[in-house]
Amino acid sequence: MWAAGRDLFAVDVHIHRIAKRLGLIGEKTSPLKAHGVLGPHIPKGRAFELHMNMLALGRTICMARSPLCGQCPFRRMCPYYRALRSQTSTKPPSKRESTRAAGPKARKID
Ligand code: SF4
Repeated sequence: MWAAGRDLFAVDVHIHRIAKRLGLIGEKTSPLKAHGVLGPHIPKGRAFELHMNMLALGRTICMARSPLCGQCPFRRMCPYYRALRSQTSTKPPSKRESTRAAGPKARKID
């Protein structure tokens, strides 16, 4: 689509996950509907750049399993991060929990 010169914002699994975590779309919003929700908010001519940047974020920091929220530039505005942080601040992890991977949750929160 970009090769054809179309200014479209594709929603792949990374972008769908990040958009949900950032609260840009609802938890149950499908990727197809996400395209319709997000698309109108993207400035003209910026879709490709935003897509590639979100893709890089999803591959390097906001991974499906164990996102590296402590390294994320969006953590201060991220509801997912705030929820994780409030979970961890109210209940300290047991010794066993703190030594193993936290599954689908963040590895480290600063
Ligand atoms: S703060 Fe964490 S969950 Fe939120 S966008 Fe960044 S890496 Fe993803």
